[in-house]
Amino acid sequence: INEYAGRDVAVFGLGRTGLSAAKALRAGGARVHAWDDNEETRAKAEAAGLPLSDINKRDWQTFAALVLSPGVPYKFPQPHRIVRMAEMTGVPIVGDMELFARAVQSLPERGRPKIIGITGTNGKSTTTALIGHILKQAGRDVRIGGNIGTGVLDLAPLHANAIYVLELSSYQLDLVKSLHCDVAVLLNITPDHLDRHGGMEGYQAAKMRIFQNQTAKDVAVIGFDDVITQSIAIGLSANGPARIVQASSTYALGRGVSAVDGRLYDSTTGQANFVGKLADCTALPGRHNHQNASAAYAACRSLGLDSQTIMDGLKSFPGLAHRLETVGEIDGVKFVNDSKATNAEAAEQALKAYKNAYWIAGGVPKADGIKSLAPHFPNVAKAYLIGDAEEAFADTLKGKVALQKCGTLEHAIQAAFKDASAAGDEHPVILLSPACASFDQFRDFEHRGDVFRSIVQSMMPQELKEL
Ligand code: ADP
Repeated sequence: INEYAGRDVAVFGLGRTGLSAAKALRAGGARVHAWDDNEETRAKAEAAGLPLSDINKRDWQTFAALVLSPGVPYKFPQPHRIVRMAEMTGVPIVGDMELFARAVQSLPERGRPKIIGITGTNGKSTTTALIGHILKQAGRDVRIGGNIGTGVLDLAPLHANAIYVLELSSYQLDLVKSLHCDVAVLLNITPDHLDRHGGMEGYQAAKMRIFQNQTAKDVAVIGFDDVITQSIAIGLSANGPARIVQASSTYALGRGVSAVDGRLYDSTTGQANFVGKLADCTALPGRHNHQNASAAYAACRSLGLDSQTIMDGLKSFPGLAHRLETVGEIDGVKFVNDSKATNAEAAEQALKAYKNAYWIAGGVPKADGIKSLAPHFPNVAKAYLIGDAEEAFADTLKGKVALQKCGTLEHAIQAAFKDASAAGDEHPVILLSPACASFDQFRDFEHRGDVFRSIVQSMMPQELKEL
């Protein structure tokens, strides 16, 4: 990133993206002033070799830009102090994705890499990884990152023949003006993060920014399973420049890609062609994953891949850790790690995906707990409760679902395994899908999922472990 060579740039927020932005700017010859409110984060950045500079004490007139981390409140609930400083002194605010987008735009048109952007309320990471996997299997040169895994500026150096598959959060989209997606994927929109976007309208507007700068040569893949994306798809079909491809796991679309009842159909030409059964894609269980699969199919098809190649990629996708991840099977009992399900909505997808669940739930509960999950309680053989949510969840489940208060994850796994192996029913699944945050007992959801996996592995007979 040499846009700011020889100039002063403020970088605020030194998490993963802030660090990679500071590094890329320094490599491009900018004088970087990196800061974070949090002392611990600052110490980590310094340990990683980044010199600090307290931008609160600097003359802001010298800054050519403020590079803001997506985690820092930009407009809502109220602008962070640093954002107001930039606004008062007329310093332009950009995000790492914007820096990347401008670097791409500065290349001659023929030498620009292709960009596939993916956003939505749920399923972003899965769909990003899935598209990346399919393209890789097809022999393409792919870079996967953004909001998932590697920060976009760590994916550089820019390579003209590469395809960048980028997960975009609504916060990142808020800070982007120049991004041009050759293929833009919008999966779904349901209420989330509303405090940070000033309400539903702001949230939707942020998501819509994925389509900005698209032209008639480009493709917009839009989910068709919720009312908001439906109306966006209809609006853009009438007024937008890009070619719209709808993707649905609910409706058999006359034109688009559908995955109703796990049967994938390509009707993009107006004629329905059967592609394959999603039951053969073991890492994509549940209807929500069929939405992700249909969107990934549409995106890859629009890049010229044939149906069979895409289906092969869907089948061989290994899945992402902590999202309905099968971590083992002992005596016919399957263990599934869905630690990423930190709220009831995500846990709902898990309960829908398995018919006979020995369900481990609990942790730090969200406002409405698991009340909204009542329609799916019939899929639960028994619930094993852990953490702060134990009492509240027990109240919700009482009289509807057999339950046991277990305290810790380890006790819950043992109790569930005992019951599941004794019951002798078909396809029992021990499902960790907590519907809760993890920080009462774990560092984060990844830590919780890793503990689950290692307990399961320690229970496996030696010969299975070695497989
Ligand atoms: P994100 O990156 O948007 O947070 P992930 O792919 O990491 O999404 O999935 C997180 C959780 O959200 C999953 O465990 C699953 O329960 C749920 N989920 C995944 N895809 C979808 C979808 N298309 N619609 C609704 N929920 C989904």
